[in-house]
Amino acid sequence: MTDVRELLLSRIRDVPDYPEPGVMFKDITPLLADPAAFTALTDALAEIAARTGATKVVGLEARGFILGAPVAVRAGLGFIPVRKAGKLPGATLAQSYDLEYGSAEIEIHAEDLSADDRVLVVDDVLATGGTAEASVALIRRAGARVAGLAVLMELGFLDGRARLEPALDGAPLEAL
Ligand code: AMP
Repeated sequence: MTDVRELLLSRIRDVPDYPEPGVMFKDITPLLADPAAFTALTDALAEIAARTGATKVVGLEARGFILGAPVAVRAGLGFIPVRKAGKLPGATLAQSYDLEYGSAEIEIHAEDLSADDRVLVVDDVLATGGTAEASVALIRRAGARVAGLAVLMELGFLDGRARLEPALDGAPLEAL
């Protein structure tokens, strides 16, 4: 696992002051372009899906789609997108959450989840935890359980983990 961690770390590019001054953007496109790294990441996330007993994978727009879809296929599970408001054509559940300035809203097709489902949420970066927290709320409101949250990276200094722990209610948060 240490080798995998080093491989993954070596393929993440730090872009200072993007998309605005003061932000260090974690760019995963070099990782996606490297088949060995992308496969290692997919395998590691699929292992978490198996270990947590997940029955579905939810990916968060947009990079959570790129990572979550192959994880779902590898683990033999269905994939469900959580999208920004206004993008899903069917009946949705919506959840808004606060940003530093203003707020955002995300949606899910509730009919894709049932009370028998245990959902693994997948994204690239956990920052403040706001998006993940809202996603967990959506999954619960859709009647399903949360198996866990799996991310490539956690920006520890923002303490998203502390914010999320009550929402996760004992489900694991795994950052590779
Ligand atoms: P948050 O809701 O604050 O945890 O933000 C999480 C979302 O924003 C994730 O979907 C990430 O893709 C994106 N994000 C936040 N901060 C960064 C960063 N420094 N580098 C890359 N993506 C980020």
